[in-house]
Amino acid sequence: MLSVVLDLERYGFINQGLLPPKFQIVKRIEAEKGDSLIDSHREIKMEFLKVWRKEDMSVFDEKIPEYSFLDLKIDILGEMLKECIFCERRCGVNRYERMGFCKCGVESYYSSEFLHFGEEPELVPSHTIFFNRCTFACVFCQNHDIVYHDDRAVNPKELGMIVDIRRKQGSRNVNFVGGNPDQHAHTVLKILKHVSSNIPVVWNSNMYHSMELSEIVEDVVDVWLGDFKYGNSRCAEKYSKVRDYFRVVTRNFSRAREHGELLVRHLVMPEHVECCTEKVVRWVSENLGRDVRFNLMFQYWPAYKASEYPEISRRLNSREMKRAMEIASLYLDNLV
Ligand code: SF4
Repeated sequence: MLSVVLDLERYGFINQGLLPPKFQIVKRIEAEKGDSLIDSHREIKMEFLKVWRKEDMSVFDEKIPEYSFLDLKIDILGEMLKECIFCERRCGVNRYERMGFCKCGVESYYSSEFLHFGEEPELVPSHTIFFNRCTFACVFCQNHDIVYHDDRAVNPKELGMIVDIRRKQGSRNVNFVGGNPDQHAHTVLKILKHVSSNIPVVWNSNMYHSMELSEIVEDVVDVWLGDFKYGNSRCAEKYSKVRDYFRVVTRNFSRAREHGELLVRHLVMPEHVECCTEKVVRWVSENLGRDVRFNLMFQYWPAYKASEYPEISRRLNSREMKRAMEIASLYLDNLV
């Protein structure tokens, strides 16, 4: 009998050694390329879902095949990079030759990896791998200097080994963040190929990835740690230079809810409690459930170019914090 663990139940069971993380299942399912990579992927995905839903550890009786479902995913993303549609900007550029909006080619860079103690209680210590670059262009970016500086090229084998070492040091998950992880999905899967520990995978994303990317990466993500920044597409376009935000992000949150566990973050912004915080909270409550784990964050500060936008060129005041908390408490039961 499995015992109940906080809110991210399945995540808790993985950490207790009672269930496998998804990527360890994906690694043990044999695959064939077939005539169409994506058709093969859809077929094998059915098998994966059966094993995943079985909720036992018998998958570890299987040997790792020469060519696995994980290898197939890596090959698909390798192809997708030739006309990149990793995110809904859908640049369509060949990232082997040039960069898209996110300023990423095929190589991935990261600025740091460490045990992070400042995440939500159920995640810490979290092995955070901080990738560079982003699919958004937030005018208030708090990490702009770090994100657009190429620190270290990722060596997947080396980073995979580091994930195992951090696990031995006590990490409860490996947390792919940035910047944003979506544009580095091909690299993340290559890292996971070299990870042998049974560690839950956390995908810490702006949730603006394409459906095509969801289809591939959702089978290795145990917990979606999704940023839900705006309650409408107008504010998203103004401050993050991104189109059709609300439709894309709500679609992705709904899909993530079906394919894994979810922790939603929302950063409250000055003058945006009614148009963003309230809309986000209501949508989450009505569509993901009142019980979804939700982190209402008050640490906004006017970084980067925020001073060019007078309405967001200050910190939150107490009235805004109080109002945001009232709204969240009214609609949600599981605040961090
Ligand atoms: S990840 Fe998004 S922003 Fe980057 S090249 Fe691909 S489609 Fe463009």
